[in-house]
Amino acid sequence: MDDDLRRDALLAWYADTGRDLPWRRTRDPYAVLVSEIMLQQTQVSRVVPRFEAWLERWPTAAALAAAPGADVLAEWSGLGYNNRALRLQAAARVVAEHGWPGDEAGLRTLPGVGDYTAAAVAAFAYGQVAAAVDTNQVRVLDRWDGAGGRTPKAVRERAIDLVPEDAPDAWNHALMDLGATVCTARIARCDACPVAEWCMSAGYVDPVAERALRGASGPGVAGGAAGSRPQRFEDTQRYVRGRIVAALVERGPIDRAVLVEVLPDDIAGERVAAALTSLAHDGLVDLGPEGLLSLPA
Ligand code: SF4
Repeated sequence: MDDDLRRDALLAWYADTGRDLPWRRTRDPYAVLVSEIMLQQTQVSRVVPRFEAWLERWPTAAALAAAPGADVLAEWSGLGYNNRALRLQAAARVVAEHGWPGDEAGLRTLPGVGDYTAAAVAAFAYGQVAAAVDTNQVRVLDRWDGAGGRTPKAVRERAIDLVPEDAPDAWNHALMDLGATVCTARIARCDACPVAEWCMSAGYVDPVAERALRGASGPGVAGGAAGSRPQRFEDTQRYVRGRIVAALVERGPIDRAVLVEVLPDDIAGERVAAALTSLAHDGLVDLGPEGLLSLPA
């Protein structure tokens, strides 16, 4: 009964205040997949113009499938985590050859498509009952039920149980918006929350204690060791990998010695070597003969 009331209240709130985003206006599984892959590690405001430019350049999975890998990486430039671009293209190539899988389980077989993304495409493009359980959904559902520390399987079962058959897309979007704007990781604005009346944690959220609980519940959950200092981005291998791909996008194929010269001075040679090895392993850079480096064909 409470679940029904909460559902109605949240859907009404979403109908009034939901964010108008370009990928929410389409049922095209390709467009939804592009948006979900872009959103995995990039902010919504940055994704909007890139999503629109991407669809203008490659409006279908077949168009993306036929594009040179170097062009795909160049178009992705600045979004970060470049292997997302190649995984997206790999998925497009499977779709171009075999057509779109018809359900969540089938979507999960596409390259680079995990549980969350498969559920998102199933709910948003196909209108199927599926729960796109990301960290926002986990947090909101845990607070609703006053049940932090549940196993991922238990949270997923609870999330699927709540999805209304007649509005799986609006439901998942509403939960995302609630988690992004009202019931956030840093603060719970319970006084502005449409479901506060039925929430076990209304007025009692302690984000610091939550982070401690998540930190204690094992690997793969946000939150660093107490007292540890955050690493500078420039000190990460992700930074080096990004600079290398950017240099290849800008200059085309170049010699390894030239690459070292054009990279920022603070990147030592051994970091370049390690980054090139991992980029080649991920299929993001081709290591040609005699030290020639290029983006994938
Ligand atoms: S009442 Fe507060 S804790 Fe509960 S869902 Fe709303 S914002 Fe989150």
